[in-house]
Amino acid sequence: MGVLGGLLIGAACSRGVVRPPAESVRPTNASRSTTIVVPSAPTPVHVGPRNAALSDRDLDALWERQLMVPVAGMVRTSLHDDFTAKRGSDRIHGALDIVALRFTPVLAPDDCVIGRMFAGPIGGIVIYATDVTSHFVYYFAHLDGYLRGLAVGDRVAKGSVIGYVGTTGNAPPDTPHLHFQVMKRGLGRVWWDGPPINPIFFFAVDGSRR
Ligand SMILES: [Zn+2]
Repeated sequence: MGVLGGLLIGAACSRGVVRPPAESVRPTNASRSTTIVVPSAPTPVHVGPRNAALSDRDLDALWERQLMVPVAGMVRTSLHDDFTAKRGSDRIHGALDIVALRFTPVLAPDDCVIGRMFAGPIGGIVIYATDVTSHFVYYFAHLDGYLRGLAVGDRVAKGSVIGYVGTTGNAPPDTPHLHFQVMKRGLGRVWWDGPPINPIFFFAVDGSRR
């Protein structure tokens, strides 16, 4: 088993948090057609080191997104918190590894816009997407492949299939998983590389494809 596989098995586990479902309410202004989702629970705590660029308002805004677990069939209580797992001597993982069978559909955790798609030696086949307010970036790595026809600029709804779990890049070949990272959007050209946020307690919905 590779290094990552060992970390997956040995990762500190933080599970069992179950929150009441969010309340969906219609705005009183009848001219508006969108549904406003009001979280019925307070903003969760951020577990692990928190970049100084992340404000309480950022975390409130992330909670308002009511994220879905981005793997089909994956429930919140089965996630492992490996956000702080060591990567080398001076880095932490800064993401969650969600282990699932190869080819399990990877889902949009939010209504979002596809921002970058490419393949590289580390992340393998990857997607970067932003939420529709462009406040956050969602990063998906080690995909086996993309949903056929997916393209940069596409707007996708929460729960839509965007790709499939795999082991591309430096993932252990015997441990298919989705490397999922949430970041605050960075500035300028490196918008896709902002400070990471631990999403472990920020999922409001289990993974369910639409
Ligand atoms: Zn990872």
